[in-house]
Amino acid sequence: MPFLKSVLKQYDLVADKLELSGNVLERLRYPKRSLLVSIPIEMDSGAVKVFKGFRVQHDITLGPSKGGIRYHPNVNLEEVTALAMLMSWKCALMQLPYGGAKGGICCTPAVMSIKEKERLTRRFTSEIIWAIGPEEDIPAPDMNTNMQTMAWMMDTYSMLKGHTSLGVVTGKPLVLGGSLGREEGTGRGVYYMVEESAKINGKDLKGLRIAIQGFGNVGSAAARLLCGQESKIIAVSNSKGGIYNENGIDIGGLIQHVKENKEIADFPDVEIITNEELLTLDCDVLIPASIEGQITRYNADKVKAGIIVEGANGPTTPEADRILSERGVCVIPDILANSGGVVISYFEWVQDLQFYFWKEKEIHQRLKEIMSDIFNSVYSMSQEKKINMRMAAWMLGISRIAEAQKIRGLYP
Ligand code: GLU
Repeated sequence: MPFLKSVLKQYDLVADKLELSGNVLERLRYPKRSLLVSIPIEMDSGAVKVFKGFRVQHDITLGPSKGGIRYHPNVNLEEVTALAMLMSWKCALMQLPYGGAKGGICCTPAVMSIKEKERLTRRFTSEIIWAIGPEEDIPAPDMNTNMQTMAWMMDTYSMLKGHTSLGVVTGKPLVLGGSLGREEGTGRGVYYMVEESAKINGKDLKGLRIAIQGFGNVGSAAARLLCGQESKIIAVSNSKGGIYNENGIDIGGLIQHVKENKEIADFPDVEIITNEELLTLDCDVLIPASIEGQITRYNADKVKAGIIVEGANGPTTPEADRILSERGVCVIPDILANSGGVVISYFEWVQDLQFYFWKEKEIHQRLKEIMSDIFNSVYSMSQEKKINMRMAAWMLGISRIAEAQKIRGLYP
């Protein structure tokens, strides 16, 4: 099922449960603005190539829209629209004063030089400049984009506006108004959510056997923090495949190995497994932290983990979600589990607007407090209403936007 269709299917399930006026539900089905731009750049060969770029602002009822920019060959308008909608629910659930957006460029970053990526990012920024800004729409990193990408966006925006604007993007390098803790923020949030979900399932982090799909920014940071609590990371993977060691993989060593541009398959003392095998491994916690649509109706009944913490956006399809729920698997939904990134983005934006920067300890404390509080609200609601945690999280997020929309009214 295409990703947008599956997000809308979940939306309809939630809409059925929520007793909201039809008008609000109808409005939230559609993005407020969708921007498609052509991005011509000169390649290193001298040839000019045109790429497709997207920025979708799904909803801005609660504040400026917020969400990442991804570079990937599969990026298309429907995917970005679905991800923008998830950002609206995520920001609302986390009680941030933001709406949801997402952007991306259809490209293959692995075969592009750094100079080509710079030209691509700068031209894209100039094409969408009228739609972004600290009070309008605030991009951030996502798949295959990073602090350097954000620095180019911030610089291009600032040069064209004629003044330096720190708050136009988040996930920037520290020296440009970035925040301590932002880079590992999503992974740290995932780690807190593993801790909370272990607690409600009567388990301890120590000795917990964990499999992680995806060893990028999110998966590797979560793995490192979990190892620090003596959890055992028994398997990890990337798009090429995975590795397994039932006694636990040496994560510090693996992070260093990957930094040296070596293949994870060449890491010592591991067995090679496929991504499909990783998802159905015998383990306590499964962390899908790569891309959408990984746990489907074809493998959901084979998943052996009792807890799933969704580091990626949309890794579980609605059919798979139903199967997992019926089997009693505890799923911590993406909009809660991976919200650490956008919560620290919010801290970064607040610091930028105030030109006053916080200490790392304070950032970790505030993140933990926010995520644990919301985890508990979602968990209590799911217990009270006998619904799964995804349904509870979506209901909390959507009803917050609906309430604001109702009070604001329809104008003009
Ligand atoms: N790309 C991240 C997400 O999917 C972070 C977005 C942000 O910080 O604005 O939540």
